[in-house]
Amino acid sequence: MKNALVILAGGKGKRFGQKTPKQFYKIGNKSILDIFFSNLKSSQFEVIILSIDKKYRKKVKHSMLDKFKNYNIFFSEPGKSRQQSSYNALKKLNNFKITNVLIHDAVRPFCSNKLIEKILSKLNNKNNCIPYIQYNDRQIIKSNKLDTKALNIQTPQGFKFDLIYDAHKELKNYSFSDDASLLQQLKKKIYLLKGEKTNIKITYPDDLVYLNIFSKPKIKSGIGYDIHQINKRTKKGLKLCGVKIPFSKLIGHSDADVGLHAICDSIFGALSMRDIGYHFPNTNKKWKNVDSSIFVIYCREKLLNEGFKIINLDINIIAEKPKIGNYVEIMKNKIGKLLQINKSIISIKATTNEKIGFIGNGEGIAAEAVVQISDEYFY
Ligand code: ZN
Repeated sequence: MKNALVILAGGKGKRFGQKTPKQFYKIGNKSILDIFFSNLKSSQFEVIILSIDKKYRKKVKHSMLDKFKNYNIFFSEPGKSRQQSSYNALKKLNNFKITNVLIHDAVRPFCSNKLIEKILSKLNNKNNCIPYIQYNDRQIIKSNKLDTKALNIQTPQGFKFDLIYDAHKELKNYSFSDDASLLQQLKKKIYLLKGEKTNIKITYPDDLVYLNIFSKPKIKSGIGYDIHQINKRTKKGLKLCGVKIPFSKLIGHSDADVGLHAICDSIFGALSMRDIGYHFPNTNKKWKNVDSSIFVIYCREKLLNEGFKIINLDINIIAEKPKIGNYVEIMKNKIGKLLQINKSIISIKATTNEKIGFIGNGEGIAAEAVVQISDEYFY
């Protein structure tokens, strides 16, 4: 018994209204197709055929390689219609002595492994199995007559391979919108199975909101701490959170901006990417007296590469002097600009050390930052 999966990802998605076909639309660092593959239990199928345009193949194969390297994955050429794409994939499968085949639209990324298992198991004693759902909303047809029997058909649709392959051969000049329609046209009995309401089809840009609901966002936190010694022989040159303050400067390899350094470390922490000293070693002359803004911009790029965005940033400045209350808004503006985030999600608090210890006696200034990042896509 051999099971195969056909994934149709050749659609141009005209209704989606974007240049990139919707199955490659990226939410964070994952495309809609990636979401499907990351959920898919690979052991259910001996052969997987992906119907996809040549120019996108390299990208997809790369994202699947790790998980599916022990499986037979092949590409097939999309046709002019969905039916043609499906037929091309089945022609390719014909060499593999397949018993059952599931044909799935790539734009339904939330199809569960449980549904796949149910369909495969039904194919043990039926020659097809088609998932459907029924909405609770009253359905009417355009003439305003009640149509209480309307069912919404989903994919993956399961078939005995020979049955659906023969149907495609016989009806190759038609253009049906799904594979079950071919069996209906040939007056074959359709076996329905309750599908899943979460098995949404992404058709319009509005549908992207479901990606938020069904793909659980990753939220991570990071903490950063930094302290620098005050150079008491100076009267100016202090920089805190990217803002110049007329006060003794801090001693450090770069501009010694404890605020920005703590922010960077919190971001590195959230991304599990070691710390600021690793990325910008103070043994490297390149970073001597440099404006710490460039470290923050570097962190912003790292966040972007990893598909994350900041959802909250809380900073503590611990100093006996100077008073920074008047600078808080300017600091927020500066940090907001560097990280390209709204300043409403930035908090800056200041505290003294109650004259205790080396901060209390004015030897140094410290800063702490806690950041929260998320890969959630906000539509
Ligand atoms: Zn530092």
